[in-house]
Amino acid sequence: MTRRMLLGAAPALLPVFRGAALTAAKTPALGYKRMILDYHFSEFSPEILSRYSAEAIVRSIVDLGVDSLLLYAKDHWGHCYFATQRFKRHPAVPTDLFGDVLQGLHERGIGVNAYYSLGWDEISARQHPDWVLRDAQGAPVKLNYPLPNYARWTFLCTSTAYGQYSLDELDELMGRYRFEALFLDIFGALPACYCEACRKLWRSRTGGQLPGTLRGPDLARYIDFQTAEIFGAYYDRVLALLKRHNLNIPATHNAGLEYTRDGYVASEIDPYGADFFRSGLEAKLWRARAAGKDVELICHRTNGLFDFTLKPTAELRWEVATAAAHQAAVMFVDQPFADGRIDLPAYRELRKAFTAADDLHPFVTGGSTVAEILIVSSERSERLNSGDSTLFRPAGERADLSGAYKMFAELHYPFDLMTVEHLAEANLDRVKVLVFPYVRCIDAAVIAKVRAWVAAGGTLVFTYRTAEWDQQALPHQQKYFGLVRLGADNPDQVTFVRPAAAFGLPDSYLRVRETALLEEDEHFAALGTLTHPALKVTEQEWVTHNVIPGQDTSRPVLVTGAHGKGRFIYSGFRFFRESREQGLPVYRRLLDQELRKVYEPILHVEAPGVVDALYYFHPGEIRVVLLNSASDRPAGEGNHVNIEEFLPVTAELRSRLPVSGVFDLQGKPLAVQRSRGFSTVRVTAIGAYACVRLVVGRSPRI
Ligand SMILES: [Zn+2]
Repeated sequence: MTRRMLLGAAPALLPVFRGAALTAAKTPALGYKRMILDYHFSEFSPEILSRYSAEAIVRSIVDLGVDSLLLYAKDHWGHCYFATQRFKRHPAVPTDLFGDVLQGLHERGIGVNAYYSLGWDEISARQHPDWVLRDAQGAPVKLNYPLPNYARWTFLCTSTAYGQYSLDELDELMGRYRFEALFLDIFGALPACYCEACRKLWRSRTGGQLPGTLRGPDLARYIDFQTAEIFGAYYDRVLALLKRHNLNIPATHNAGLEYTRDGYVASEIDPYGADFFRSGLEAKLWRARAAGKDVELICHRTNGLFDFTLKPTAELRWEVATAAAHQAAVMFVDQPFADGRIDLPAYRELRKAFTAADDLHPFVTGGSTVAEILIVSSERSERLNSGDSTLFRPAGERADLSGAYKMFAELHYPFDLMTVEHLAEANLDRVKVLVFPYVRCIDAAVIAKVRAWVAAGGTLVFTYRTAEWDQQALPHQQKYFGLVRLGADNPDQVTFVRPAAAFGLPDSYLRVRETALLEEDEHFAALGTLTHPALKVTEQEWVTHNVIPGQDTSRPVLVTGAHGKGRFIYSGFRFFRESREQGLPVYRRLLDQELRKVYEPILHVEAPGVVDALYYFHPGEIRVVLLNSASDRPAGEGNHVNIEEFLPVTAELRSRLPVSGVFDLQGKPLAVQRSRGFSTVRVTAIGAYACVRLVVGRSPRI
């Protein structure tokens, strides 16, 4: 009997199951507490690595109590730290630093993941101009963060002779050492390359010239080309090398494009002192992309983007708790001082932070997420429809995804993320609500599946121009799931939306930007109607301080309708992005009221928005992790916010399930109130996190 059949046989009262239960870590040799010692050292200062010591590194990692170290075989400068005679070594490191640390850690039972910088090798880029990744004008492509004094690494292209050079380096590394995993950095969704080799490769595969501007269908074709011919072709050669060296270990890459070759997936979750929803969003997003593989979430111990200052311990602890609560391994990034010494006081704080993982990892391991609501994301659609995003401020679909994540996190409903690619194969029988925050590119097969699922009784929430294009960025014949018909965007400077009076909201108007205009249809009901501005504001003509609402219309811009046995809620404007950017609760209240007409969560938490609630099904019980980010207040745009201490908050867990007992992390019983068919548990004074176990009935034999 398959696992799916067993799950399908579970009693109906038990909650939603999704995905494979994580019954065993698939990267057990790396453990759930991991460390990186960043080692990207140039040779421009005589001080650099003058006091490095393999023994000191081993001792500090052992004292830290982590399970594994991501150890540098080669850095962004292109320096190898292993005992190669053939490739560039760091001039200040004549010893076999990689081998010595590897041996020292192995002797103490600590795993080693070999770090290899693929896309950046600055010395090679400077010595071999024909190896670098080039833009459409033929100029080398460099990292260009809008930050002062930041590294300007040059990207390299594996379609050039650099590909074989790097494979030869990896070949030697694999031939000399036994390690537990391989981490390929700066590899995946790199900028488009116009080097001679890539242009030739493109011509041989497509018969045409690589377009100088990549947008829409051209960009879609380039993504396919990049995935198969650049990324995939190179990755396959690395995996073949591992096999040839009898290294039966997982590899991973950082990051993007696709994940089928990865043994586990890894990505970063730093809130960057500004966005304390980003960490949970990234955790769920990478778990969705991993689709059952292990996830490694990477945190930085330094404030800002490598400021070499230590974050407050509470902040470090919250980041660990966020990763661990999502069933992921947590890895901290550190970099030694310029002379190679370790910042030991920082390690004492990291050790305290890691204890959160010791609490949470065993609590959530083996559980399946309770996911009645699925928010759908698409990495491909985000790239094809990026809008005028900047590095630190997404304007494309990521802004809408972030808004939807924030809204459901604040509602504390049992939700999860799913990629549009995995949606094609997913069993949606137990999913109640599907949310497409704004996903413009969706395949026809997925659209057909979603339509059938709605017709069978599901509730679909979607916005703006979702499902307008296919995966090749070509317009569908039947757009927008075939549920609404849209014209052009509203030409007004801003759109005012008048929510239906039935909501009883104190807000007379919402004020939003781009709005797709709906064509009239008797099949849906208006939840909000369009109001034009009183005047088009020019340099000479205005009404008062800003654009002001004018003529109300009966034209719907926010609607709900039936499709078969199910319903849809459609917003002509970018509902979730507006909600997040404006920080107004009206959007959440409005959607919640509308959803609650057709959906009641199997369990949820009443708590302030600073609390994240994660729900897992375990045999016979539901386990809940509550994360608390209540701390300091922001002090102006661009200024860093950290969690300095946790302000205790209270949460109330409510469920209609027949709860027979409730326990905290230590197994202490918690009081259950029962009234009007609800079981309610009050959890007071949540520090960084609190754990609750609800015993809900007999074991479903999984
Ligand atoms: Zn190239």
